[in-house]
This record gives sequence, C-alpha cells and structure tokens, in this order.
Amino acid sequence: MSRKTIAIIGGGAAGLMAADILSQHCEVHIYEKGKALGRKFLVAGNGGFNLTNSADGEELCNKYTPKEFLQPALEAFNSDATRNWLTGLGIPTFVGSSGRVFPEKGIKPITVLQKIKDLLLQQGVQFHFQHEFLRFDAEHKPVVKFQSTEITIEADHYIFALGGASWPVTGSDGNWLEAFTFLDVKTLPFQSSNCGVNVNWPTEFKEIFAGQPLKNLQVSVGNFSIKGEVLITEYGLEGNAIYPVVPKVREALNSGTEAILMLDFKPQNTVGQLLEKVQGKNLLPKNYEHFFKLSKAQLALIKLFTSKETYLDLEKLVQQIKKLEVPVSSLRPIEEAISTVGGIALEEVNPDFSLKRFPKISVIGEMLDWDAPTGGFLLQGCFSTAYFAAQAILRKLNI
Ligand SMILES: Cc1cc2nc3c(=O)[nH]c(=O)nc-3n(C[C@H](O)[C@H](O)[C@H](O)COP(=O)(O)OP(=O)(O)OC[C@H]3O[C@@H](n4cnc5c(N)ncnc54)[C@H](O)[C@@H]3O)c2cc1C
Repeated sequence: MSRKTIAIIGGGAAGLMAADILSQHCEVHIYEKGKALGRKFLVAGNGGFNLTNSADGEELCNKYTPKEFLQPALEAFNSDATRNWLTGLGIPTFVGSSGRVFPEKGIKPITVLQKIKDLLLQQGVQFHFQHEFLRFDAEHKPVVKFQSTEITIEADHYIFALGGASWPVTGSDGNWLEAFTFLDVKTLPFQSSNCGVNVNWPTEFKEIFAGQPLKNLQVSVGNFSIKGEVLITEYGLEGNAIYPVVPKVREALNSGTEAILMLDFKPQNTVGQLLEKVQGKNLLPKNYEHFFKLSKAQLALIKLFTSKETYLDLEKLVQQIKKLEVPVSSLRPIEEAISTVGGIALEEVNPDFSLKRFPKISVIGEMLDWDAPTGGFLLQGCFSTAYFAAQAILRKLNI
C-alpha cells in the first residue's frame, strides 16, 4: 500500500508537532506562507520562553476555556509529554516560577526551533515556503499561491494550523477566516486576549506615572481575582495581574456593561485589620497615606478615582485601598496581544479536531476559538491539539 500523504498548512507550533507525529508514518508536506517556520515561536522567546507549564491533570485543564473541549487532548498529551518530547529533541527544560517551564539556561528559542526542524527533515517532511493558502476549490481542496502560480493541494488528509491573529508580523494574520466562511464553516471575529487594557487617564496623570509599577496587589473583575504586579502605561494597565482578568473584561465589554477592575493594594490585610492598625495612633488625616505606606502611584490612583473627602476620611480611604474601582474603556489592539480568541467556532469541530462537515480537514492550535492564560499554557494547548488530531488521523487512515 502506498504511503498516505498529509498536507499541513501553517508552519507554527501546532503544525510542527502534527508533522512530527504524522511523518513517522506518512508523507508530510508543510505549506507555510512565510520564508521560515515558527516566527511566532521565536517572538514568544522574547522576555521568557515558557514552553509549557508544570501544572497537570485538572489543574492544567482548568486553565483552558472551554475546558471540556480541550480536556481529552490535554490528557492525551500533557505538560510532562511536552517536556519528554523536548528532552528527546535534546532540549532539557526546568520549572521556574509559577510552574513555567523554560529551556535550560543558554538554550535560545532559535535552537529549539532548529532542533524541531532537523527532526522533521530527518523524518522526510517536505517544506514549501512562501506558499500562501488562499481558498478552497469547488472540491473543497486547499488552493495555495506560490509566486504568481496557484496550486491545488492533493492529499489524503489536510491539517490547518494557521494560528490566531495577534502579532500579524509573524505571519499569523487571520486573513483566512473568509475561506472557511466560504465553506460554510462558522468563524468568529478575532479579539485580543492576554493583553493590556485601556483606561482613560488624564494627561497629567500619565505624564507622571506611565512606567511605574504597582507591586503586590490583587486585581479582581466580578468574582475572579489574581495577585501580582501591574504596570501603569500611557494607555492604561499591563502586566501579569491584568492578562488573567482579560476574559472577564472582554465578557463585560462585549455585553455592553461597564468593565471595572477592582484594585486591592493591601491584599494581605482585611479592611478591619487595616483600621485596627490605625486605632489609638491619633493620626491626622494628612498622615493616613504615609501610615499605610502607599506609593505615590497608588495614592495618585486613589485620588484620581475618588473625591478629596474620601482620602481624608479614614474608613473611606481604607475601603478604597482595598477596593479601588478603575473603569476599562477597551482592550489593547490584536496586533499587540499575546494571543487571540475567535477563529473557527468549536461547534464546527469534532472531538478529534476534524471539521464536522469536512472530516478530511482538521483544524488545530490557536486558529480555534479557545482561550488560556500566559505561562506556557498557549503553546501547550497548541501541542496537545496537534498531537490529538494527528493520532486521530492515523487511526482514520488505518495506520
Ligand atoms: C509576544 C508573544 C509571546 C508569547 N509567549 C509565549 C510563551 O512564552 N509561552 C506560550 O505558551 N505561548 C506564548 N505565546 C503564544 C504562542 O506563541 C502561540 O499561542 C502559538 O505560537 C500558536 O501556535 P499556532 O501553531 O497555532 O500558530 P502560529 O505559531 O501563529 O503559526 C501559524 C503559522 O501559519 C502561517 N500562516 C498563516 N496564514 C497562512 C496562510 N494563509 N497560508 C500559509 N501559512 C499561513 C503563519 O505564517 C504561521 O507560521 C506568545 C505569543 C506572542 C505574540
């Protein structure tokens, strides 16, 4: 029996993982519109390259929305599996803060990418660079453009791994939505995830405080809270305590309700404990702020969103230290976001990531409408969906 042929369109994290699994048994071709593989993978390496996260089992699955959709894939190929796969490639890893998994010191993202590429070459994967997927033909086969020639791809199975729409300079620009709409596959517009938020600061405030960190605070939206650090920027707020609340902010903005961040500058103390500290000290109101050791930026924020009477009234001031309401006007643009939601609607996809209406086409990675926080969970989601889809294809093709 002749070897089956698999066409993978998109040479990012998800496409590369699928190529590894499938090229052990099939002839695999990767069609990538750029001149190189994994450009977003390389960008991901700027300022901390989290290849996965040591969270496992339920803890890992709970990071994903919708959890139920991704759980089988995450269980089939979890973070340990990713680490073992990397070790097999010659990339030892270590677990850093918050369970983030990094390549061992001195190993650069380009080295990780090169090792994956070398493995795929060894396994006979054929790369077709500058081949841009344009549309589907009348028989639902993908058509790509190379230079000025349009080519219809023939394969036993097609995998799309075209990515989301953040950082379009890396190649993942989301321009493919229309091609799937043409197939009558429902798609959702891309929206920013893991991004900063816009706040309408007065000019004077941003001139003084942009660039200042707010450390050890808790940020809440509704009943979701996260402790960490926030950076005041020209446009609003950024940082590791902002990204995790973005899904709740997005939900509020999409439903037309006000999106409010609650900042707690003293998460280790209750209101009662803070008031107790002041009792018997006979402080003048002008000294409250120094007593609570608020930074200039924290104090300016409280002053910005409350009246003068508030910060001269002890009880009211403590309430604001614990629950300062900061209104968000919008999310930062997709171009700056670390990831996106939107893309292929999950209701169009079988549990094995093939399209319900076109079972010879699978869709994996960030082009599907799922969400996860930073910290290695995004790449893990891409690897897991790719592995799971590839295994299902092997079964379907009786390999
Ligand atoms: C700044 C930044 C930092 C990040 N840091 C981390 C991190 O530390 N840890 C983590 O887990 N995640 C991180 N991520 C997210 C992670 O990089 C992505 O989730 C992941 O790369 C998505 O993989 P993918 O294969 O789905 O898509 P991509 O990696 O985006 O790959 C899609 C590929 O498809 C190609 N393509 C697109 N359209 C076409 C077309 N029409 N025809 C042919 N080819 C096409 C693109 O050129 C691209 O090569 C980061 C992202 C950014 C932007």
